[in-house]
Amino acid sequence: ALSLAACGGEGAGSGSADEGSESGGGGGEGGTVGVAMPTQTSERWIADGNAVEAGLTEAGYDVDLQFANDDIPTQSQQIDQMITNGADALVIAAIDGTALSSQLDAAAAAGIPVISYDRLIRDSENVDFYVTFDNYNVGVQQATALLVGLGILNEDGSEGDAEGPFNIELFAGSLDDNNAHFFWDGAMDTLQPYMDDGTLEVPSGQTDIEQAATLRWQQETAQRRMEDLLTSTYSDGTELHGVLSPYDGLSRGIITALRSDGMGDTIEDGLPIVSGQDAEIASVKLINDGVQHSTIFKDTRKLADQAVVTVEAYMADEEAEANDTESYDNGVKVVPSFLLESDIVYQDNITELLIDSEYWTQEEVESGV
Ligand code: BGC
Repeated sequence: ALSLAACGGEGAGSGSADEGSESGGGGGEGGTVGVAMPTQTSERWIADGNAVEAGLTEAGYDVDLQFANDDIPTQSQQIDQMITNGADALVIAAIDGTALSSQLDAAAAAGIPVISYDRLIRDSENVDFYVTFDNYNVGVQQATALLVGLGILNEDGSEGDAEGPFNIELFAGSLDDNNAHFFWDGAMDTLQPYMDDGTLEVPSGQTDIEQAATLRWQQETAQRRMEDLLTSTYSDGTELHGVLSPYDGLSRGIITALRSDGMGDTIEDGLPIVSGQDAEIASVKLINDGVQHSTIFKDTRKLADQAVVTVEAYMADEEAEANDTESYDNGVKVVPSFLLESDIVYQDNITELLIDSEYWTQEEVESGV
């Protein structure tokens, strides 16, 4: 199995002619890339899938793009099928980062390079490369945005006027997604000093990731937990000021629960500060309307481009460019990674970050679709 940030040294099917020869047949071009995405219920994964497909097609590859409805057996079968059908490379955003070992063994045996996309595939030697965002920093940004919303910090990072104490509640993502742990760690490292000095309190006492987690990142699950927290902890009139939420879908579930509880319709009339992630259009509209406070913009077009560049490197037996060879230990080895940067979106920089970059149009931001 491969372990270097680079070239497989394996011809990966299509280029099965001698590497040194300059024979026809495309000189390493062409071939099929299997692209496995987790779900179509969140728009980011549809955008990711489409962008990766478009980029690979343009680069001259055939693409087998599959979405798995957040169902682990479905994703395993899809990847098995890609291998059986002769894929020359795999790009995988796993549902459960630990559930693909047998598929990866098969891929390695067939000399197929595996690129882990956005989410790290764990517990396998046979992951060649990881393209993603700086996930720890995403968590730092989520917590920072919450602190800004509460007035503890200013947007430029300087100390704000508000002193608290503030009551917050904490939500995490799906524990089988490696990213959820990075988001949580980044956020908690940022919030902890304020919890230690009493600026922030978590009245429910639920400060472990296991208590805060949301299986499969489901909006309804987060909404229900928020409703339960409101009943158990806030029905005596205790005020809630903010909620750490790691993903826009969860944020909207949380906001629904807060609004039904009469906490206000907008931040201006008392709705707690809620963070997010992904700049989903429904949430960007809520931010524009002063309802959700922030989100994190991860430009999936850039991630897709990076995946394409990485596939091209492997297919050409060249070294794929990594910019991080330390952070992502998958339990068996450190996977060479390329990390992209993300930005905090507030109401006042929607235009600059999302509209000027043509991620969304003004009309979409206003309509939410
Ligand atoms: C992704 C996030 C996304 C979440 C839920 C994570 O692995 O990095 O961007 O919000 O999954 O789909």
